[in-house]
Amino acid sequence: MSFKVVKFGGSSLADAEQMKKAANIIKADNSRRYVVPSAPGKRFSDDIKVTDLLYKCYDLAEKGDNFSEVLEEIHNRYREIISGLGMDFSIDEDIKIIESNFKKRYGSNYAASRGEYLNGKVIAAYLGFPFVDAADVIFFCENGSLDQEKTSGAIRNALKDKEYAVIPGFYGCGADGYVKTFSRGGSDVTGSIVAGAMRASLYENWTDVSGFLVADPRIVKNPEPIKTITYTELRELSYMGASVLHEEAIFPVRSAGIPINIKNTNDPSAPGTMIVPESHDEELSAYTITGIAGKKNFSAINLHKDRMNSQIGFCRDVLDVLAENGICIEHMPSSIDSMTVIIDSKHLSGKQSELLTQIRKRVNPDDMYVEEGIALVAVVGRGMRRTRGTAARIFAALAHARINVKMIDQGSSELNIIVGVNEEDFEQAVRCIYDIFVTAAEQ
Ligand code: ASP
Repeated sequence: MSFKVVKFGGSSLADAEQMKKAANIIKADNSRRYVVPSAPGKRFSDDIKVTDLLYKCYDLAEKGDNFSEVLEEIHNRYREIISGLGMDFSIDEDIKIIESNFKKRYGSNYAASRGEYLNGKVIAAYLGFPFVDAADVIFFCENGSLDQEKTSGAIRNALKDKEYAVIPGFYGCGADGYVKTFSRGGSDVTGSIVAGAMRASLYENWTDVSGFLVADPRIVKNPEPIKTITYTELRELSYMGASVLHEEAIFPVRSAGIPINIKNTNDPSAPGTMIVPESHDEELSAYTITGIAGKKNFSAINLHKDRMNSQIGFCRDVLDVLAENGICIEHMPSSIDSMTVIIDSKHLSGKQSELLTQIRKRVNPDDMYVEEGIALVAVVGRGMRRTRGTAARIFAALAHARINVKMIDQGSSELNIIVGVNEEDFEQAVRCIYDIFVTAAEQ
């Protein structure tokens, strides 16, 4: 029988009203069987997430300071939710245990995880579903990575005779037996792991936006939503700054071929974005491109040396120096006698002259200089493979807007074209690419 795993983010569970919406969504479809909640998030823009309150509370506990006031604030968040839901339920005992474990210095991971743990218990009671502690089914290896095999086995075992269940997001059990969390936003990962282990037909990720948008709404006014996107396209866009889903959340479902549907708790009838495996990509995106994303703050190290092309190992030597300094490269456009390495500018701060000295010593270039203030714009779309002239349209749009293109890189999969522009031109570049592919297509 096909069924869904549903994950609700913090803003979808921030208070009793939001919780009711989530519960209605779950109850409206009985194939929504396994529920993965986050901790209560922000109720208004300068509110504090329960997870952040827990970090703050544990900080005090660790320093030996009085933390009862902050713990009380956390307790009150849940009290309000419980009473707003009209439930006869108490977490008093759990709060006492948490207080005592804070005094025993159980660690900040344990502390942060309690937001999901408590929320999971409240939601399970409200829905009438059994509660499965994530610390009993999600396991990490010694190096901090997920112990996939042990985890999948434990999840299947725990859920095999449960038609419905609530499994809190964000944490599991570390190799040392203590609670360990994923990085921030990690409930997305838990949902994906549960969906993958149980071979769900769909992983629904409920949040406060109706999926991904073709471009950043802070740059483009009212951008169109993305209806379908492949996992690979999403990787490209997320890397370049489009953030709705935790980066690690795609892997457990991707390997099992399970789609993810990003949905909006505040607008459940909106279709949201469907993230599909490559094999399902026959459904064309509405436009040639699927999305545009980008980031500022890159630098280019430009190197020139006569007859560079015949000097074996030149590029490798430059890259070796960067690797020795722990710097990963973003792009490496080259010509016969020159190469450019684009890196995140943060790698240069305070270290630029030392790095250039090392490169000079290793490859002795005729000329070398650094250009800062570069922005990268990624134009991503599986439709590009089938369409001619995509690059021409991008560059025509940029030329028309008098934007100077500093670098071009087309991935070998023909899935993306990356353009480097001056940071001052970044927003304008995104807008004019959006206009040529989306606005113009609609007229
Ligand atoms: N509550 C955690 C956080 O704020 C994890 C999550 O919401 O996914 O990062």
